[in-house]
Amino acid sequence: MAIDSKNPETIVLHHGYRAEGTTSAVAVPVYQTTSYQFGDSQHAANLFALKELGNIYSRIMNPTCDVLEQRVAKLDGGVAALAVSSGQAATALAVQNIAHAGDNIVSSTDLYGGTWNLFSNTLPNFGIEVRFVDPSDPENFRRASDERTRAYYAETLPNPKLTVFPIGEVAAIGNELGIPLIVDNTAAPLLCRPFDHGAHIIVYSTTKYIGGHGTSIGGLIVDGGTFDWEANAARFPMLNQPDPSYHGAVWTEAVKPLGPIAYIIKARVTLQRDYGAAMSPFNAFQFLQGLETLPLRMREHCRNAQAVANYLNDHPDITSVIYPSLHADAEQRRRADAYLNGGYGGLVGFELAGGAEAGQRFIDALELFYHVANIGDARSLAIHPATTTHSQLSPSEQLASGVTPGYVRLSIGLEHIDDILADLDRGLSAAAQAKAA
Ligand code: PLP
Repeated sequence: MAIDSKNPETIVLHHGYRAEGTTSAVAVPVYQTTSYQFGDSQHAANLFALKELGNIYSRIMNPTCDVLEQRVAKLDGGVAALAVSSGQAATALAVQNIAHAGDNIVSSTDLYGGTWNLFSNTLPNFGIEVRFVDPSDPENFRRASDERTRAYYAETLPNPKLTVFPIGEVAAIGNELGIPLIVDNTAAPLLCRPFDHGAHIIVYSTTKYIGGHGTSIGGLIVDGGTFDWEANAARFPMLNQPDPSYHGAVWTEAVKPLGPIAYIIKARVTLQRDYGAAMSPFNAFQFLQGLETLPLRMREHCRNAQAVANYLNDHPDITSVIYPSLHADAEQRRRADAYLNGGYGGLVGFELAGGAEAGQRFIDALELFYHVANIGDARSLAIHPATTTHSQLSPSEQLASGVTPGYVRLSIGLEHIDDILADLDRGLSAAAQAKAA
């Protein structure tokens, strides 16, 4: 019996799977198989012709991944999802599914460093231009668009700038011009449902909060099913003209009987088929375990992070604290309140009065916090982005994405708040000694 609920706490435990028919296993099984026996030759032909949906080969679909895809699509109010091998793969495929050489996308400057690299180097090498714009004025997206613009791209809660993106404002411009908005919601799962504000596609690095325990790399693309690809046929030939790689299928027509899922089906049966960036079933199992406690964990991440932000805000050696609820700028505060619900996230940034040297001493003195290039783990993490995650960017690119030399980023975990604050105190004392010396 399928359990139908609108509540995230129930969806993460029950949606898309009930005790499996042959074994009665309660936990979602790890279907560690490459391939699936066809019923007969007609069944095989129907699957390949997309006349029926079903399992063919684990590079393009897998029953364990399928439960994860269904659960996250349901949580976000989307129609379908595709599990991939990493967050980076999710972003690359989400864009390449609708843009090819000669096309462009318009992206917010406020991005994770890996995405910045993909957009400023790798996609241009494939002939896809990425036009970076400052999201503080949403109209910048309109100004940068032309008839070859295939998507807008942004992060809900950009890592590490933590200035919430104006999803509704930019989606409205996209709706006027016929351009879909792709949102990376990695840092704010459950806190923000980008489709509710008009976004059309969501990408996740499931490596972070969805997995939640720092064990597995993975990603997801979620289709909101709300963008009218057919009405914008001239802009999206890849979805509206015969695809020679799939015996001339026109995706918006071929998939129509299955629902508004042309975008995600095309991503699955062409890009995933060709690039093979598949999520392993074992990783999908790990993400399902993480997902089961995501609502609980996000509440606690937010509660601890808010306490850390308040503590740092009162500290004399800190020149600025970056946390969505503490933004001095009124418009930034408004966006945080409009788009985040139930908490302001688990990431906290701050700048030490002593600059880069104090920042490094701070990190080296920490004992509880792990010094790692990750976010969204159950454990507290710290990093100095200018010398690590964002080190491949030029100084001006670093500044554009919010990384100053003395900036330290914390990903606040689920430890007791007293222990988190005691460790921060240890780091701040070491940083103060650097200043005194
Ligand atoms: N998006 C954001 C916001 C991230 O922070 C990261 C990684 O840190 C990624 C995407 C890339 O994810 P992955 O490491 O799973 O490829």
